Amino acid sequence: MKFDLHVHTSISPCSRLGLQELLDNAGRSGLDGVCITDHNTMAMRNYLREGIQENGLCIILGMEYSTSKGDFLIFGPFEELRPDLGAEELLSHVNRTGGVAIAAHPFRSGRSTDESVVRHRLCTIVEGVNGRNNNYENGLVTRWQSRYGVKTVGGSDAHSLEELGRVTTCFREPVRDRATFVNALLKGRWSIAAQQNYS
Ligand SMILES: [Zn+2]
Ligand SMILES: [Zn+2]
Repeated sequence: MKFDLHVHTSISPCSRLGLQELLDNAGRSGLDGVCITDHNTMAMRNYLREGIQENGLCIILGMEYSTSKGDFLIFGPFEELRPDLGAEELLSHVNRTGGVAIAAHPFRSGRSTDESVVRHRLCTIVEGVNGRNNNYENGLVTRWQSRYGVKTVGGSDAHSLEELGRVTTCFREPVRDRATFVNALLKGRWSIAAQQNYS
């Protein structure tokens, strides 16, 4: 199943991608699933039912949580998570509660992930390809693959319809809800990020 793991809807102040627009067009972008990862909120849960939609698209709700040591895509029981946790506190909580965290755009200039987070294995999955990073920034991730054995996924970081599905991650097994999604990530059952129309 082909997923875009990193998508902002218009709930994020910086995005102009509407929910209906996303639902109507994700299939056309070749996607079987979309993770909605708005900045520091899972408020999208008030506007749709998570899981398989009427048109067959699978929606998973998570969020992109900002810390001074980087931004993390987190998936799990985090609807009521309080803001302003430090990276260590956040990632310990995610790991303790059976969730999963992905370091977003780890080498983006000015918005990178602190290396200590992967060195201490608080986070073991990182974005190897982020659709808003340039090739140079994405390429630096190979350092951490060889040094720390981090696993890599891909996501578009879409803030508009044009960007939706540009970078994807393919799961080998069916994902139908948040639990099966988290399980697939924890078990490492995905193939390397595919790239579409991305340069
Ligand atoms: Zn970010
Ligand atoms: Zn983002």
